[in-house]
Amino acid sequence: YHAKRNRNEYQSYKPEMNQEAYDRLRLESDLRQGLEQEQFTLAYQPLVNLSSGKIVGVEALVRWQHPQRGLLPPGEFIPLTEDNGLILPLGEWVLRAACKQNKAWQDAGLPPMIMAVNLSMRQFRQHKLADRIKSILEQTGMTPEYLELEITESMTSDFEAASEILSELKAIGVQISIDDFGTGYSSLGNLKKFPVDKLKIDRSFVTDITKDGSDAAIVTTITSMARHLNLKVTAEGVETDEQIRLLREGNCEEAQGFYFSKPIPGNMFENWYRHRCQSA
Ligand code: C2E
Ligand code: MG
Ligand code: MG
Ligand code: MG
Repeated sequence: YHAKRNRNEYQSYKPEMNQEAYDRLRLESDLRQGLEQEQFTLAYQPLVNLSSGKIVGVEALVRWQHPQRGLLPPGEFIPLTEDNGLILPLGEWVLRAACKQNKAWQDAGLPPMIMAVNLSMRQFRQHKLADRIKSILEQTGMTPEYLELEITESMTSDFEAASEILSELKAIGVQISIDDFGTGYSSLGNLKKFPVDKLKIDRSFVTDITKDGSDAAIVTTITSMARHLNLKVTAEGVETDEQIRLLREGNCEEAQGFYFSKPIPGNMFENWYRHRCQSA
């Protein structure tokens, strides 16, 4: 008991804690350098229409090619960039890179495709976000209607503020979807009033759709609610035939997941796409 108490008292001097603070600082300075040196890349995961089997678009997912630590997934650095504000320049880089890529695929003769890009809370609240996005669209030559901005339910909790931002975004012609839908606490009453185009059903409900009756019910409920509100719906994280079958039965129109493909590095997507269309 005594030893334990001693250890607790000692805690504020633990070398590991200094290590943690040090690692965070290190990561932050690496991030700044990473932004300067463009160490970030995008991977693209296809969005598939469940009735036609066609690829209707992709979601852009950021990765960091860290010079020492290798390719890092967003979970390892996005939260820190949200805390320290670096998400603003990073998010802008992501938007520009995604729009450029979309335009490049168009120029290469691929059919028009949705380009879905994740926005974080800080970006959503950024001053003149719509103007910034508008100029990125103009500079890259991407068609606004094909850019889909993914927000989360938590961003809509301040109804007045969110309505204003969303109307400004809709005014430039982009699409809005709600990511990870079902995990937040958005009010259905508000949902009806927001100018939103699509709900993306969170992977956690899709995963157990074949085993858990209540998850299946949640998916069916979201799908039918979306239909009544005139919203499109996408299921995230689809991995099996059985899940696809149930989603089709529930009239879910679109899906995304490892079943179709893992996120594909930018320089490999065009090949993957052409190959898939030939064999389909
Ligand atoms: P998200 O937007 O919900 O993206 C879907 C995540 O689920 C991706 O992880 C994707 O690889 C993964 N996933 C897709 N299908 C499956 C599947 O069938 N099974 C499983 N187990 N996983 C699947 P990733 O790329 O690690 O991204 C994680 C999260 O990081 C994203 O979740 C998004 O919230 C965030 N993120 C990614 N890129 C950006 C970005 O450019 N900006 C911001 N603000 N956030 C980003
Ligand atoms: Mg997303
Ligand atoms: Mg999601
Ligand atoms: Mg997400």
